[in-house]
Amino acid sequence: MRRARRAAAAPGGALEDAVEAMRRCDVLAGVSAMEGGIERVYLSPEHARANAQAGEWLELAGMRAWEDAAGNIRGSYPGATEDAPVLVLGSHLDTVPDAGRYDGILGVMIAIAVVGRLHAHGARLPFGIEVIGFADEEGVRFGRTLLGSCAVAGTWDEAWLDLADGDGVTLRDALAAFGLDPARVGDAALDPARVVGYLEAHIEQGPLLLDAGRPLGVVSGIMGAKRFDLAMEGEAGHAGGVPMRHRRDALLGAATAALAVEQVALAEGVVGTVGEMRVAPGAANVIPGRAEFSLDVRAATDAERDRAWARIRALAVEAAGARRLQFTESLRHVAPATSSERRLSEAVEHGISVATGDREPMELLSKAGHDAMAIAALAPYAMLFVRCGNGGVSHQPDESVEVGDVALAIDAFEAAILAVAQRWQPLA
Ligand SMILES: [Zn+2]
Repeated sequence: MRRARRAAAAPGGALEDAVEAMRRCDVLAGVSAMEGGIERVYLSPEHARANAQAGEWLELAGMRAWEDAAGNIRGSYPGATEDAPVLVLGSHLDTVPDAGRYDGILGVMIAIAVVGRLHAHGARLPFGIEVIGFADEEGVRFGRTLLGSCAVAGTWDEAWLDLADGDGVTLRDALAAFGLDPARVGDAALDPARVVGYLEAHIEQGPLLLDAGRPLGVVSGIMGAKRFDLAMEGEAGHAGGVPMRHRRDALLGAATAALAVEQVALAEGVVGTVGEMRVAPGAANVIPGRAEFSLDVRAATDAERDRAWARIRALAVEAAGARRLQFTESLRHVAPATSSERRLSEAVEHGISVATGDREPMELLSKAGHDAMAIAALAPYAMLFVRCGNGGVSHQPDESVEVGDVALAIDAFEAAILAVAQRWQPLA
């Protein structure tokens, strides 16, 4: 990374910082594999270009920038003493296909803006700061989320190296092609004894702040999720020849199970989604012999999530029995529910109060996953949510935020970090 060629911008007010943070989101939106849209996946040429660009911004904000063994881009800002521990700030720089420009990206730009302010004032805190642009949160390429933050948290699993992308390229080969050593990804891990905590700013990806007329909120925790591959096996047959009563139609069993997901989710106050369904043989004149479908179920606690799944499962088994189908299940992914840490959350609340004058900031439970849930294995975390426009849509091009809200978010994030510094006591 090049050294900063000019000093960080003089403190010129939150609005200027917000305009610049949003301009940077626009710049990264142009670093895309998709024509007319945004797509930036792990270990792609776009990932490398985004890291190079983010590295320049980290250095402009007074940090030393480097790419770690997992391909995360990181910047470090020194603390008051050489052996000071670090407060980690971050979010992700990868995207889903045809993404919005703020999911993840804005959180990294807010963190860089805040460190730029500290640098402009020559401020040194009792801890150093490390800003991380995580390389893989969405899990688009290899089907496993949070690869970048798991590497930093020290929970990287060597078995993941055998995961393959849609073209059959393994994670091992993709790391090597990117210039990284697959055997050394674990080197990206931080030592938990040296980490004060983790703070992440992120767009809400929902309408609650918008509906409440509030620009910012504090995250109480992140929902636990389980994802399953489910299937109904019946018997294919001629769409004309087989009488209705004799059929073992796999799709109808799957459809009944999908409706059960909605019914249980509404009754139990959880969220459940069947987002994928494939029917075989898949012809207009053939009765479906097999239907494979996904289930994603999330709840505030692991116990609520598992109770909902047990009910869904019972109804799916019942639906299969009624149609003489075989129901099979396989667990694809588990993410335990996590809670933010009280003192860090209080610092975020304090930051929101300082920035907005709101004495009782709104608390939200995140239904989406975030890097914070992987980092929870390393250190306590807290999160700041920024209001989304357009009804709260995310993971699509209409994702939007207001520049005024981003200005408040930068002020709040800075005040939160200063509050952590004020209350933090080094261990003797
Ligand atoms: Zn995100």
